[in-house]
Formats: sequence, structure tokens, C-alpha cells
Amino acid sequence: MLLSEFVKLAQGTPADVMRFAQRWGALSLCRMHGLPFGHSRSCIESRPFLTQEGSESIGHWIRTAKGFEALIGLAIAFKKRSYGDDADWDSVEAAISGPDFPSATPHKSIIKWVDDERERLAVARLRFQIEVDRLIKIARITPRLWWNQKRDRFQVDFDSSTSQTPNLLCVLTLQLLPVLVNPDGRKGFAKCSDCGRPYRVDRRPNPNRRNYCTRCKKSAWRDSKRDQRRKRATAEGL
Ligand SMILES: [Zn+2]
Ligand SMILES: [Zn+2]
Repeated sequence: MLLSEFVKLAQGTPADVMRFAQRWGALSLCRMHGLPFGHSRSCIESRPFLTQEGSESIGHWIRTAKGFEALIGLAIAFKKRSYGDDADWDSVEAAISGPDFPSATPHKSIIKWVDDERERLAVARLRFQIEVDRLIKIARITPRLWWNQKRDRFQVDFDSSTSQTPNLLCVLTLQLLPVLVNPDGRKGFAKCSDCGRPYRVDRRPNPNRRNYCTRCKKSAWRDSKRDQRRKRATAEGL
């Protein structure tokens, strides 16, 4: 799944980002803010840096991947009636809001000013909704219908407005939306018991057991060894 590969870049190396970009194309981020091209009028007018290969910053890619990862993390948290991690809110605001979309209610002020737990959750959900709305807008989701001669049928593509290449951010956003609606569904995402990051799962993991992303499988092994040792020690103590 393209989305889960992209989300992995949040913890990826520059080489991982380059490999992904060479395979799937540019994200079309503006050079000045590292936000999706088209996020503000002034960026549209100063467009020349876009769509040229190598013009996007790897740091901006990783920040965007972190924003996507964080949105999934927050969606998982909301499902459990939790407000989510501060770090996730920071990542979302950095990757999606940017300087031209300052929030009237940044997450820190929600924590500070809204005392009631239920009300805070409702305000946080609204805040989340505004961020996702903003992403939908700046991802420029514009379907294009065309006749595919080879396949002998119509096809719908999501091209970027600046070139004939697919609009990668749009495709990623379209894959993200159903995950935000049902993050822990079949073929959804789960939160790793060790690093706390969301990772792709084919089946809903057992909520009564620890579940680990591939990176943390090692620590799962370590934990199970520790539990075994503890059990043994208790048994010997009896
Ligand atoms: Zn910009
Ligand atoms: Zn992990």
C-alpha cells in the first residue's frame, strides 16, 4: 500500500526518501515553506521550483510523512476516546497548517483552556477535522476522466496541475481518508506497543496483547524473554 510505505518515511533515512521519490514522483512541496504547492497564493505565483526533480527538500518530505503518520495516530487515539499525543499534534500542525494557516485553536491552547474532558475531546475532534479539510484542499484532489486506448475503457486519474505526472499527495490523501474514518479496521493501522507509532496491519491485532511494528519486533522478543524469566523466577520463588 502506497500510504503505509509513505508513512514509514517518517522514520526513514534520506536514501529511503530518494528511493520513494524516484519510484513515485515528487510531492510538489513549495521550496519556501515545504508545504504542498498551492497552499497559498503567494506560493502559486512563485512557482518555478516545482515539479523539477531534486527540487524538494528531504527534510520537508520527512515532515510531511510525519504529518500523515500523526494524523493516523490521532485517529487511533480518537477511536479510544483519547485526545492523542502532543507530538502528533505538533507534527500535524507543522506539516499541514504552516505559517499561512495559523490556527485559532492550536492544540496547546485546547489543553490549556478547556477543562472539561469531554468538551476538550469535542474541540480536539473539530480541530482535527479542520486540519484534514485543509489537507484535502491543498492536496488539490481533482479527478480527470480520459479514454485509455490500451485498456479500451475510460479511466480516472489524479494528475498534478503542474505536469502530467500523477498528483502523489492527492493519491496519498485519498488513501488516508478511509484510514482516518476506520483506523483499526481490516487492513488498517495499529499502534505499536513499543514506539507508539502507527503501523500497517492486515488483521486487527489482539487488544489484550502487545503488538509491535516491524522495527520493534526485536523488543517484542526481548519482552517475551523477560516475561519468561519473571515467570520462572516466580515459580522458583513458590
Ligand atoms: Zn509555500
Ligand atoms: Zn514500534
